[in-house]
Amino acid sequence: MSLSRNILLWASESPWMRKNVPSWAFVKSAVKKFMPGEKVEDALNAAQLFQTETISTIFTKLGENITDLSEGLVVLDHYLKLIDQIAERNLDIELSLKLTQLGFDLSFDETYERFKAITKKVKEKLGNVIWIDMEGSSYTQKTIEFYKKINSEYENVGLCLQAYLYSTEKDLDDLLSVNPHIRLVKGAYKESHDIAFPKKKNVDHSFFEISKKMMTAAKEKNIRVAFGTHDEDLIYAIIQESKYLGIPKNKIEFQMLYGIKSNFQNELVKLGYKLKVLISYGDFWYPWYMRRLAERPSNVWFVLKNILKH
Ligand SMILES: Cc1cc2nc3c(=O)[nH]c(=O)nc-3n(C[C@H](O)[C@H](O)[C@H](O)COP(=O)(O)OP(=O)(O)OC[C@H]3O[C@@H](n4cnc5c(N)ncnc54)[C@H](O)[C@@H]3O)c2cc1C
Repeated sequence: MSLSRNILLWASESPWMRKNVPSWAFVKSAVKKFMPGEKVEDALNAAQLFQTETISTIFTKLGENITDLSEGLVVLDHYLKLIDQIAERNLDIELSLKLTQLGFDLSFDETYERFKAITKKVKEKLGNVIWIDMEGSSYTQKTIEFYKKINSEYENVGLCLQAYLYSTEKDLDDLLSVNPHIRLVKGAYKESHDIAFPKKKNVDHSFFEISKKMMTAAKEKNIRVAFGTHDEDLIYAIIQESKYLGIPKNKIEFQMLYGIKSNFQNELVKLGYKLKVLISYGDFWYPWYMRRLAERPSNVWFVLKNILKH
């Protein structure tokens, strides 16, 4: 892991920086590259525009690691109202949540009941899938356990797995017996060499190997496989492999973040692949934004340019 990536990931966890940085105007302005706005209305309007380009979206309200269970009730209420708004506007939007935003650090059972209430409403009103984000490795096994439990009650839930963890291939093997919907990503957190591949080329290799397993499973089972990456080489390798395995285009889905590789996103749609853009909104963007900078430390120049502008 490069020094700059390490520093940025450290900064994403620093309590002082979490408290102070979001009020700095030049950072606020730089964040706009990755989100249409802080308000849910901004996200809904952006989703409407994407839909005219046959690109559907996934929404996530930024927030993580709440420290009081009552904060999770506000989040629950937000998502339940959002589902009504999406249904009223007839938009093709899925949801993606971090369990720690609902209280996972404080109570498994309470988080489960909250997530279940959202899942139930998603199923009834939107008829689509709700995704569980994967957070730092201290949550991995607990999140998989959570997923298995909710999956036994509701089939419309998907789980994110991270290719940088050594354990992921085995976790996938284990999960395949419950017919999961899986989004594979490289992984965005600061992890030790003991549990995660430190080098990018090994993470990429792991991603490709796991993607082959996912595609083979998707050929045999009615499961959804999605690849959450902007890595063009990897995406073309997955497309090539899907052709070799004889998997139809409509069974392969790519997911990318708002504001990253927009032209490439359109290219994939033109090629006939399913593409979903994940839109984040809300005012708790600091740790999430630092992880975006860490993914591409040259993004820091963008922030510095904003300082100069001010
Ligand atoms: C839909 C979706 C959901 C995700 N959910 C999770 C999750 O639940 N848990 C988790 O740990 N991680 C999640 N991630 C983040 C993921 O783990 C990676 O950190 C992120 O996708 C960057 O990796 P990459 O696969 O694009 O590959 P990289 O090798 O990092 O990037 C490939 C290329 O994409 C471009 N690029 C990538 N990131 C950026 C950026 N921030 N700014 C500008 N250009 C960039 C660059 O051109 C880069 O060369 C998610 C990502 C996506 C797309």
